Amino acid sequence: MRPFMDRDFLLSSETARHLYHDYAAGMPIIDYHCHLNPRDIYDNRRFENISQAWLGEDHYKWRLMRSAGVEERYITGDASDYEKFRKWAGTLELAAGNPLYHWSHLELRNYFGYRGVLNSDTADEVWELCNEKLKALPARTLILDSNVRALCTTDDPADSLVWHRKLSGDQGFPVKVLPGFRPDRALEIGEAAYLDYMERLGGVNSFAQLRERLEERLKFFLSLGCRVSDHGMEAVPFVRATEEEVSAIFARRLKGIMPDKSEEDKFKTALLIELGHMYHRFGIVMQLHFGVIRDNSSRLFRELGPNAGIDSIGDTVSIKDLAGLLDALDETDELASTVLYSLNPGDNAAIETVMGAFQDSRAVGRIQHGSAWWFNDHKQGMISHMTSLASEGYLAGFIGMLTDSRSFLSYARHEYFRRVLCELIGSWVENGEYPADEKALRTIIEGICFKNAERYFKLD
Ligand SMILES: [Zn+2]
Repeated sequence: MRPFMDRDFLLSSETARHLYHDYAAGMPIIDYHCHLNPRDIYDNRRFENISQAWLGEDHYKWRLMRSAGVEERYITGDASDYEKFRKWAGTLELAAGNPLYHWSHLELRNYFGYRGVLNSDTADEVWELCNEKLKALPARTLILDSNVRALCTTDDPADSLVWHRKLSGDQGFPVKVLPGFRPDRALEIGEAAYLDYMERLGGVNSFAQLRERLEERLKFFLSLGCRVSDHGMEAVPFVRATEEEVSAIFARRLKGIMPDKSEEDKFKTALLIELGHMYHRFGIVMQLHFGVIRDNSSRLFRELGPNAGIDSIGDTVSIKDLAGLLDALDETDELASTVLYSLNPGDNAAIETVMGAFQDSRAVGRIQHGSAWWFNDHKQGMISHMTSLASEGYLAGFIGMLTDSRSFLSYARHEYFRRVLCELIGSWVENGEYPADEKALRTIIEGICFKNAERYFKLD
């Protein structure tokens, strides 16, 4: 029997251990998509206790606690931080096979030096140890100790980016904290608060003006080092329309007349194409996140709002629409470097093949299949994502892992990913499917862990 999560956790062969310890482990981190609050970084936020750092905003943990039958007051309710932590420890104790089990223990080791097992019996000693150590682990220290070179947050175009501005002028913190341009609210023309949002953008009276406003905001983001845009959507919209039609749909919405589904898709398609052209022109990456259904429980949504752990994998998307959108951008040779993420792993192979149709010599892996995302962010999900990418495309060009997290402790997920990566490629070498070519293996591993992202996002 192997020891529990030892130095060679997830690394079952000699080659896997060599690739991980000699090449992967020492690579810095570029966390190119996360949901950290830049204010917390600027203020160098301190967490009073491990519950605040672990359970404050982590809806992955919330859903596991609900699944284990924990009452809501111990999850998002008015129970004390200590009581919540005890419930979390009791939940984790039996969560065999869940990635949270591994992530939590990696975090306990990496940040708190705790090498034991967290369960109901050890909860008190872990609580005391972590709270003591947290005094010397404010946000910036957690980032620096994790060897992070750059991170990209997720920000609304209307955001003042005040904390990014302050951070960019702070010579004392060497990590690049860059804004990510996420104009979802500008696309969601069917939302009740859409007109309020247009006011936030500075007042908009035509589709042409909306385009101008977004371009102004994007330029502002670029002035603070923005390298990525991001779009979150249930499905990929793709219904072509003339400029006149789209302008008329938008003009009607400004008068309070709601679009029907087809008009909404026409508007979204047109605006996505306009934005895609901008991303291409300014040389930044376009990320598309799709295949998700948000806020499935309207009862919990009413009580807790968004990001409460009540989302799910959505239907497989229309690959025809996805290919159509990429083609519409590529038609005029204005397709930006693009990262595609579907929450539905059933889309994996199709995404790989669509990507293959739009690759070219301007970048290695110019169109990327983003890292196994959210509900796929675990050993099986990562293996199936990378196996699919290797089978249909060019795994060596993959830009690798991101945390997509709201927690400063989540960098341990990069370690988890790197172990899975080295185990997978190591198994091919052990099996005689790929040669033990030291130079090539090193290039592949260091590329996927760090160097590909550094090049792709122009952070070198
Ligand atoms: Zn995200």
